Amino acid sequence: MKIAVCSGKGGTGKTFVSTNLAKVLFATYIDSDIEEPNGSFYFENLREVATYPSYKAIPSFDLDKCIKCRTCVDFCHFNALLFIKDKIKFFPELCHSCMGCKVLCKTGAITESKERVGSITIKTNEEDIAIVGQMEIGQRNGGAIVKELFTFTNNREDYVIDCPPGTGCEVGEIIQASNLILVVTEPTLFGLENLKLIVSLIKLYKKPCFLVVNKENEKGYKPLEEFANAEGLKIVTKIPYSVKTAIANAKGYRTTELKPYFDLIKKEVARYENPANN
Ligand code: SF4
Ligand code: SF4
Repeated sequence: MKIAVCSGKGGTGKTFVSTNLAKVLFATYIDSDIEEPNGSFYFENLREVATYPSYKAIPSFDLDKCIKCRTCVDFCHFNALLFIKDKIKFFPELCHSCMGCKVLCKTGAITESKERVGSITIKTNEEDIAIVGQMEIGQRNGGAIVKELFTFTNNREDYVIDCPPGTGCEVGEIIQASNLILVVTEPTLFGLENLKLIVSLIKLYKKPCFLVVNKENEKGYKPLEEFANAEGLKIVTKIPYSVKTAIANAKGYRTTELKPYFDLIKKEVARYENPANN
């Protein structure tokens, strides 16, 4: 099962939850937070076993065949194409690789080529496996890396995907390719507003989803409970905001402090993997 761990915003503890969940499930950890993939640092003594370059498709132009009809420029909704001084100007960093421009060009002036956008590295310490996507500096669109991350499979049953924060295109790609979505949120107004955004995205893809509240305080946060109830979203566990938890987090799952919370999440995942457990 592919379990995507999302959050509407950064700083909720998504990587903390993903890495610990990968450990309790004995799952492959996939770091798709490609702008700053730091989740593999949570595992002890990982060593790199392979690195692959990752490419995205981009259009290439033969200006001798171009009749300046502007069809491609008018089509590109990402503003990656412009006409400047009667010539096509292409901005590869804005291109989303849809290749619609190539399909529409009637003269064959556009062909498909590729550009390196990042890399994928596989790390292991024999017990843990991490597949890490990393976008190159200067790139803006890592959709191709995220898609490629899903092509790496092994003999483990579960994959825990640590998503980028927010609700961008890459997050949509991951939700679409996953079986179950775990949303990490926090009991604040800011956390709640961003939770609403990610939940509306998950609904678009009609994926099953549950919540984990991280950094829970003694008072709780009633609006979050009300939103979860109204949306029919189960809050599976609340991990307290405490010095004890922070120390346990820094030491990793093997300290017993975090075990009860992650056992609850594991049980919830099992409900989806085997509906007979319901
Ligand atoms: S669609 Fe083809 S012919 Fe028309 S402007 Fe673009 S590249 Fe040139
Ligand atoms: S491939 Fe798509 S996004 Fe890229 S330039 Fe062509 S139309 Fe625009």
